[in-house]
Amino acid sequence: MFILLAAATLPAQQDQQPRKVDPGEPGKAPSDAVVLFDGADLTKWRSGDGGPAGCQVEYGDMVCRTGSGNVFSRDEFGSAQMHVEFNVPFMPSEKDQGRGNSGFYIQGRYEIQILDSYDNPTYPVGQAGALYDDHAPLVNASRPPGEWQSYDIIFHAFQCDPQGNILRRGTLTVFHNGVLIHDNVPIRKVHGACIQRGPIMLQDHAFPGAPITVMRFRNIWVRPVDDGGVSTIRGQTGIGRGGR
Ligand code: MG
Repeated sequence: MFILLAAATLPAQQDQQPRKVDPGEPGKAPSDAVVLFDGADLTKWRSGDGGPAGCQVEYGDMVCRTGSGNVFSRDEFGSAQMHVEFNVPFMPSEKDQGRGNSGFYIQGRYEIQILDSYDNPTYPVGQAGALYDDHAPLVNASRPPGEWQSYDIIFHAFQCDPQGNILRRGTLTVFHNGVLIHDNVPIRKVHGACIQRGPIMLQDHAFPGAPITVMRFRNIWVRPVDDGGVSTIRGQTGIGRGGR
């Protein structure tokens, strides 16, 4: 009798078979992912003013040179699993933040730093994998410049009430090249008004006199996560298409 009662009070999800997801071959996106870049074209990306992205597709890579401008995903996302692969150039004449600098910005505002941090000391909250100016990575799992690297990110979005007050702080878990570098940390520094969806942004770390940096990206995908928050729509995937 106790067992029957316990089963009856379980959340419905526990009574259902999980839906199938084809994880795909290594280097490919899972079958239910929103694929933002798979080597073909940049139709899923835009510039800051809504025009075409300033990066180029070369031999299946998204290539972004200094001065080409930040690029934004046309889709906007709330809570999600995200994957990106990147390749920073070797710039031995530069150091610190001047060497191979870009960034993967969640909701266009929370930067997971992309930097050559293999043998290039900088401040901890500014090195590769840092949530910039907020959380240093637990370890430095960088590969040498010129080699492909990856971030796998689990982001739980801020939840806001209709007045824009924060009901729940956003959190991050991040793996750098498969190594855990953020373990469900709360985002401490809130940037701007509380939003529940936003685009991914790839940073053009341009400034007057900046050296030309050639960043390469590939295999970028997102799986929206239904975490029960008000930013998600139960029973649907591919949320975040219609703006915040
Ligand atoms: Mg950066």
